[in-house]
Formats: sequence, C-alpha cells, structure tokens
Amino acid sequence: MKIEKREIGHAQGDGPGPTLIVVAGVHGNEPAGILAARRVFARLGRGGIDLAGDLWVFAGNLAALQMGVRYQKKDLNRLWQEDRVTEVKALAKPDPEDRELKELLGAIEGAMGYARGKIFLGDFHTSSAHGIPFVLFGDTLPQRRFVEAFPLPVVMGLEEQVDGVLSSYWTRRGCVTFGCEGGQHDDPGSVDNLEAVLWLAMEQAGLVEKGSTPELGRSRGVLEEKRGDLPPWLEVVSRHAITAKDEFRMEPGFRCLDHAVKGQLLARDRNGEIRAKSDGMVILPLYQGLGDDGFFWGRKVSRARLATSSVLRHMHLDKLLAALPGVTRDVGHPSRFIVDTHVASVYPLDVFHMFGYRKVREDGERLTVERQPG
Ligand SMILES: [Zn+2]
Repeated sequence: MKIEKREIGHAQGDGPGPTLIVVAGVHGNEPAGILAARRVFARLGRGGIDLAGDLWVFAGNLAALQMGVRYQKKDLNRLWQEDRVTEVKALAKPDPEDRELKELLGAIEGAMGYARGKIFLGDFHTSSAHGIPFVLFGDTLPQRRFVEAFPLPVVMGLEEQVDGVLSSYWTRRGCVTFGCEGGQHDDPGSVDNLEAVLWLAMEQAGLVEKGSTPELGRSRGVLEEKRGDLPPWLEVVSRHAITAKDEFRMEPGFRCLDHAVKGQLLARDRNGEIRAKSDGMVILPLYQGLGDDGFFWGRKVSRARLATSSVLRHMHLDKLLAALPGVTRDVGHPSRFIVDTHVASVYPLDVFHMFGYRKVREDGERLTVERQPG
C-alpha cells in the first residue's frame, strides 16, 4: 500500500466546532485505519455532509507502514512519556522511531493549533488475533461518556499496564482520547469496522449532527452485528509480559477479546504451561513475532460498579483518600497520591480505581497513583 505522507487527510467544516484527530498505524503492520480514513475523506469530498470543526487523520509510524513492519527499532506506542518526549525533541541523531515520534508530535500539535473547540483524539489499531473489534480508553469520566457512543465492548485500564501509550499522553494534555482495535490485521472487515468507528466518533464529538447522514446508522449496524457474546464493559487487571527468551506461544484459537475459565490452558513458554487462575477474559493474545505483551488478563465490570465510581468522583470524596494511613499527596504532582503499600496494604488498588486513579509506578513498597484530568 502506498502511503506517501503523514497527513492522510484534513477536512475543515464551514463553522467552528470540535477537532477530531485520529492516528492510524502507530504500528506499521496495521494499515487498516488508514484505508478506513481514506474512505471517509472520499465520502466527505463528494459533499452533502455538513461538517463543523476539523477532522485530521495522521499516519502513525510512517516509515514502518511503508515497509509493512510493526516497527524498526522500538514500539512507537510505548514512547510517550513527558520526559522522553522532551528528550527526543533535542536528539541530534534520533533512531527511526524517535524520528517518527518527533514528526507525529509536530503534526498533532499543528492540528491542535488550528482547533476552534474541544479536541478529541483516536488511536486506531488492528490485532494479530481474529475476533470482535473493541474500544479502549483511560478511565476518566469525559472519556467514559465518549466511548458510550460505540456499540462495541469497551476495555479500560490497559494503559495502566504499559508505559508510554500515545493516547494516555494526549489525555494528560487535555484531549478526550480513545483507542480502537478494529479486528485482525489483514481482514478486510477490519477496514469496515474502523470506518464505522470513525463515523461514530465524528458524531459523538459533534463534527456531524446526530443521525444527520445515512453513514451513521449504517456504521452502528456494522458494529452491532459484530458484538456477539461479549460483556459491554471490561477492565484489564494484569499483563503477561514476555521477552524473546521466554519462547512464549499462545494457545491457538483465542479471539482478540475472549472468555477463559479457571484452569484453562492459555499459553506455553520455556517453563511449561500457563493456565487461567480464575474465570476472566483474555485480551489481545499475541499471535505474531514482535511484541512484549503475551496477553492481557481482564474481567467484566458491572454497570452498578461503573455508576458507583461515577457518583464517588462527582462527590470529590477523593480528598478523603489523603486522610488514609499510608497515603500521601505527591507535593510535586497534586493529581497524584503516593501509597506506602506496607502501611496501606489493606486498601487494594481497586479503591483508587473507583475514584479514577490509576497506577503510574510501583517501586518496591511505594506505589504512585494518578488521577487523569476530568
Ligand atoms: Zn497496534
């Protein structure tokens, strides 16, 4: 596939409105989001759709996309920490992915410079496993509200398991962000799924009026049909990290989001079998060579729990968290708490999750949790 430049398209509405920025192919072996975006721009180009604000779509790892590989030196979706980003800007000899980060950062900041309203950012992926598309998001209330637009399973908390994810970086910079896994890399259906997600994201962000064009209803239909037997809300509880030395092999047959029961064989490595310790969900099982996440482990989240945590956050009871023994506010970062897990071992991370805090660092007995904006 020919992808000549980073900007896949920019459509500007007549009037002011929100900005939706989409990054597609942050992994170079995942071009489906770019194909999906081209269809949407082609449709917008034919006219008849009233657009407010701006839609921008950028290629993520442009050089890797041109080569058809996931990345050259390192994963571009693990490099978005503030201090690293600052460092990379000053690098005299950036490696291929540092160069991509620099250029993509410039492209996104450029688009933000044009913004005439609220800014939303989507990150489009596909996976090595087949299965049902799903949406990922960092658990802030505005992001929760945003992902409700998609008739797909939504998975929260993935960014807590891995450092330097693109979407969480932009959440911290004030955007409402979401990610989407559109299906298997080479499945033409993944392009249809991501196209549908893009239309619905435009509707939810307010670039097009609700129900104003047949593409919106059609998109909802495409996704609703695929949802299957999966719960609507899920959260990631752990990550099975791997290195090449582990000789990790996922058991065949898992979908990109799939049920597993206690005791079920999930994978094998040099130490033998890896079995499920409880009933739960396998998320993004690895069926390709490159990558250091074997799979993520998750569970269903009930509507009641979601509602409770939303109420708790609105009441700002989180001030009380600071009063708990072993919990102190981080003086340098008012949105963070430092938890001495030796003293505070009685409150599981779950208590902090309910208030919208996510783990950012674990350093011996010192756990740092942070509340994302919103
Ligand atoms: Zn990806």
